[in-house]
Amino acid sequence: MNKEEKVYIAGHRGMVGAAILRKLQAEGFTNFVLRTSQELDLRNQQAVTDFFIKEKPAYVFLAAAKVGGILANDTYRAEFLYDNLMIQNNVIHQSYLNGVKKLMFLGSSCIYPKLAPQPLKETYLLTGELEPTNEPYAIAKIAGIKMCENYRAQYGANFISVMPTNLYGPGDNYDLKKSHVLPALIRKFVEAKRDSKPFVEVWGTGAPKREFLYVDDLADACYFLMLHYNEPELINIGVGEDISIKDLALLIKELVVYEGALQFDATKPDGTPRKLMDVSKLHSLGWQHSTSLKEGIRKVIEEKFTLIS
Ligand code: GDP
Repeated sequence: MNKEEKVYIAGHRGMVGAAILRKLQAEGFTNFVLRTSQELDLRNQQAVTDFFIKEKPAYVFLAAAKVGGILANDTYRAEFLYDNLMIQNNVIHQSYLNGVKKLMFLGSSCIYPKLAPQPLKETYLLTGELEPTNEPYAIAKIAGIKMCENYRAQYGANFISVMPTNLYGPGDNYDLKKSHVLPALIRKFVEAKRDSKPFVEVWGTGAPKREFLYVDDLADACYFLMLHYNEPELINIGVGEDISIKDLALLIKELVVYEGALQFDATKPDGTPRKLMDVSKLHSLGWQHSTSLKEGIRKVIEEKFTLIS
């Protein structure tokens, strides 16, 4: 990447896009084109066409998406499918038409089959049925991967797809109905401590396992891959280690120093039993994460909440 050339980060107000922007700024990039969703509705084909013709970015990070936790995915099923397909079709197609030198599409570990062998290798894509709670989101993300793959195959476009594991960090969503498990639990434990509540409710059985990556590490990996990865095959970004939801809850309880109990709500879905990423491909290229889960959770608590002792 040439630091003078124009970079478009789609979704720069989101947790991921904002982290990518921070990373590029720290690396000395200054020529950005950025639009909020109010300024540019990425679902609108004409608006995206006009934007690309006018701005002609050299590099594109496609981090704009409708995202959410298990309940949001399961509730707003049509929106997760439609919004994401429209956003990515418009941005990827216009990137091709306007000669973008390189585009990075960000997917998700939920693209892999629900019962795929663990850890999840990139080659497991489309080898089995998806997890029903987030099937619409996963289908959209799989379509995005195929857009990149086939625009490369037919047109020679240098479009790459990266699949991050579950992310957390500054700028996360703490709305308990829409958020992912990690921010939700941090908020619940902090508030339970503040209000001296006797227990914290944890959805599901606590048995599912998830892997978590600090979003600034993700941004670091994205920059690294933008410099060094030019292959048609998707590539996983993660830490290669996972933790059960119960143990995650216990870890947050310890870090918040909350004395109450955990109460599991089995009426809420567990979702995929496990989705541990195989990160051997990323490691073999020379990138590894640097923030441990404990350190990352501590940072988030410090940045976002005031803890009473
Ligand atoms: P997923 O990775 O797509 O399943 O999304 P989530 O991060 O929303 O959920 C991960 C797991 O954490 C699921 O098994 C949830 O049932 C469980 N979980 C436990 N407590 C919570 C909570 O308060 N909010 C959310 N979103 N998930 C929770």
